[in-house]
Amino acid sequence: MTEEIVRLENIHKQFGPLEVLKGIDFGMETGQKVVILGPSGSGKSTILRCINQLETFEKGAIYFRGLDIAGMKAKDLRRQVGMVFQRFNIFSHLNVLENLIEAPIQVKKTPRKEAVEHALALLDTVGLADKRQAMPSQLSGGQLQRVGIARALAMDPALLLFDEPTSALDPELVGEVLQVMRKVAKSGTSMIVVTHEMGFAQDVADRILFMDGGKILQDAPPKEFFKNPNCERVRNFVKTIG
Ligand code: ADP
Ligand code: MG
Repeated sequence: MTEEIVRLENIHKQFGPLEVLKGIDFGMETGQKVVILGPSGSGKSTILRCINQLETFEKGAIYFRGLDIAGMKAKDLRRQVGMVFQRFNIFSHLNVLENLIEAPIQVKKTPRKEAVEHALALLDTVGLADKRQAMPSQLSGGQLQRVGIARALAMDPALLLFDEPTSALDPELVGEVLQVMRKVAKSGTSMIVVTHEMGFAQDVADRILFMDGGKILQDAPPKEFFKNPNCERVRNFVKTIG
């Protein structure tokens, strides 16, 4: 039986009077890739941030591998749930290799030699083996984001969350990051990806969730999503991006 990696049940979230999540329900199996689409302000980032306890919520529950995250310490949860942000979460005073080994050594207490070996393998995966000594200031946006992905992978996360990982990049740098994300997807990691990259969504997603106004309006495999949008709002969205 496939284990459920994460399940959200009836999540409600308010910022003051503003209700940004109005009852979110979804679950995904281990190894699945879920892409979240939707207009700006619809609550996409807030969902990701609730999953790794960067936000609290008023109502509902989130289960990670069957355990209610309300009973978990943030640091224990975040060891297993990695996040890649739009703005790269890289330490500017550490070189590339040091960025990758920092969390495994500090948080997981991985022996340094082992952490370095793992980091070098990951740098190879993201095509940056030759940049291991480079400082972040010497790298392009695309290279920084690839370091960001390798840094998240260095913790061996069971689930990886991506929040518009290519939105801050110059167009010519988007491809190299998507290519790395496709590679990560192939490796079997469970992923939730908020993106506007339709090609990626179409090719990589097992399911696409479409959000608007704090609700999931459609949850379907890509083929069905693009061929048979279930409501006017999704139809219009598919039309404008198609
Ligand atoms: P998306 O990622 O889909 O663009 P967000 O989840 O970031 O949307 O935001 C959903 C809504 O919540 C938006 O209206 C946004 O302005 C609001 N919001 C997000 N974070 C905060 C915050 N920390 N305080 C107040 N309002 C917030
Ligand atoms: Mg967002």
